[in-house]
Amino acid sequence: MAKVTQKLAALQDIDLLISERKAEEDLGFSTAGLENLEEARAKLAGEVDGRFLRMYERLSKRYDRAIVPVVGHRCLGCSLVVPTSKRKSGEDRATGALVTCESCGRILFFV
Ligand SMILES: [Zn+2]
Repeated sequence: MAKVTQKLAALQDIDLLISERKAEEDLGFSTAGLENLEEARAKLAGEVDGRFLRMYERLSKRYDRAIVPVVGHRCLGCSLVVPTSKRKSGEDRATGALVTCESCGRILFFV
């Protein structure tokens, strides 16, 4: 997995934790640790190339999970079979471009 994909996956984990905390806050629970999460998020976001970050942000507005694994050759977001050419390249190493699902547009990673 390329570094940018790893970082985006980590960013998504943090975002999911943050939204869980915020939901707890709405229920009246303490939000201890939320600041730390937001700090970690900002730091990580700063390490991701701007165009990939914007792509992630845009997708995460549309989906709960903007970045999903390919399992059994299928995009876990929409179940479309990922074409062999994309499976082979995994990620375009020359440009560092991300691989996205042709159907739903989510960022894919290969496990
Ligand atoms: Zn998909």
